[in-house]
Amino acid sequence: MKDLSRRSFLQNLGMSAGATTLALALPSFATLSKKESRTYPGKKLNVALCGLGNYAGMLAYGLEQSQYCSLAGIVTGHPAKAEEWKKQYNIPEKNIYNYQNFDKIRNNEDIDLVYVVLPNALHKEFTIRAARAGKHVITEKPMSISTKDCEAMIKACKDAGVQLAVGYRLHYEPYHLEIKRLGQKKIFGQVRLIEASLGYKSDDPTQWRLKKAIAGGGPLMDLGIYCIQSSRYVLGEEPISVTAQFGPNTNKKLFSEVEASINWQMNFPGGAVCSAASSYNYNVDRFFASADEGQFEMSPGLSYGPFKGKTSNGELNFPEINQQATQLDAIGKLIIENKYLPSHITGEEGLKDIKIIEAVYAAARSGKKIMIG
Ligand code: NAD
Repeated sequence: MKDLSRRSFLQNLGMSAGATTLALALPSFATLSKKESRTYPGKKLNVALCGLGNYAGMLAYGLEQSQYCSLAGIVTGHPAKAEEWKKQYNIPEKNIYNYQNFDKIRNNEDIDLVYVVLPNALHKEFTIRAARAGKHVITEKPMSISTKDCEAMIKACKDAGVQLAVGYRLHYEPYHLEIKRLGQKKIFGQVRLIEASLGYKSDDPTQWRLKKAIAGGGPLMDLGIYCIQSSRYVLGEEPISVTAQFGPNTNKKLFSEVEASINWQMNFPGGAVCSAASSYNYNVDRFFASADEGQFEMSPGLSYGPFKGKTSNGELNFPEINQQATQLDAIGKLIIENKYLPSHITGEEGLKDIKIIEAVYAAARSGKKIMIG
């Protein structure tokens, strides 16, 4: 079986809606960025990556492939890392910040957008600080660790007149666009059952993902969010209730603060049920849907890919793309054109997922069915 440890997950990198014209007073792109474009015949959206861990590395690679965005700045707590990135990506000294002097980014006209790639509990603080500095924001998934935090982030961005997106890379990925089409257009009729699972074996006790205060939760927060997302966009509906069960704790040293694994069931208004699982204790990466007149599925299906899938009519066969570059291009182009981002990637969308995650945890803790209002 394919090893899906976090490392191999990351190694898979090798591979690798329209928006309406803005009515609100968003800061005009032209007044934000002074940096000239290299290839795109206009100004690129200049992005500062905030937090330079593993995923920031993938985003930097995506930014190099991007047509509409470029890596213009960094925010890091490690001077040595700043030096390394400065050299590797040719980042001017004046576009390098640490977590203390970050607010000075307000005066930097070379930065248009801050991409927050910090551990989950820090998304709120840095999104709000970036918004108050007048920068558009993309924050990584999960948007934050509570609905209260998400609401504060949405408000801060609205108050500052900047746009807020969540880093939902699969919203631009061809296999996922296809399962969304198959489900929502009812190509095989009404979807009745979805099974979605994502998990990998965790073995590093120092990993922040195992610390509740900074991670917000365990695999449900980190990986289960992809199961929630995919079921929601395949059905085009919001779950109305959930039941959930924590899995056994097989390693008390690793899992003293967050769940080792969790299974949950979401009931949708059209009658569909999604049975989902997420784990730091075993490897799994699949999506399956059964509809009245056929089925569709992918495995690998929810990670970085490359994805493999089939339907009742045969194999799914789409080109492998750089997911980060594609996502950044879609967002960058709209912001450059002063258009609203589509609702399926905004803070409101991130908030919906966190609301469901809170309900799943409440269901697992109480053993009761939780209604989502
Ligand atoms: P990581 O551990 O590799 O990097 C985290 C970075 O944050 C490091 O540079 C670290 O130095 C910095 N940091 C600052 N304060 C910290 C603190 N108090 N504790 C720990 N680290 C701190 O993590 P990552 O895998 O890059 O994940 C970062 C974010 O990106 C998470 O929210 C994660 O969910 C998200 N992510 C998204 C995807 C995706 O496919 N969209 C993939 C991986 C990670």
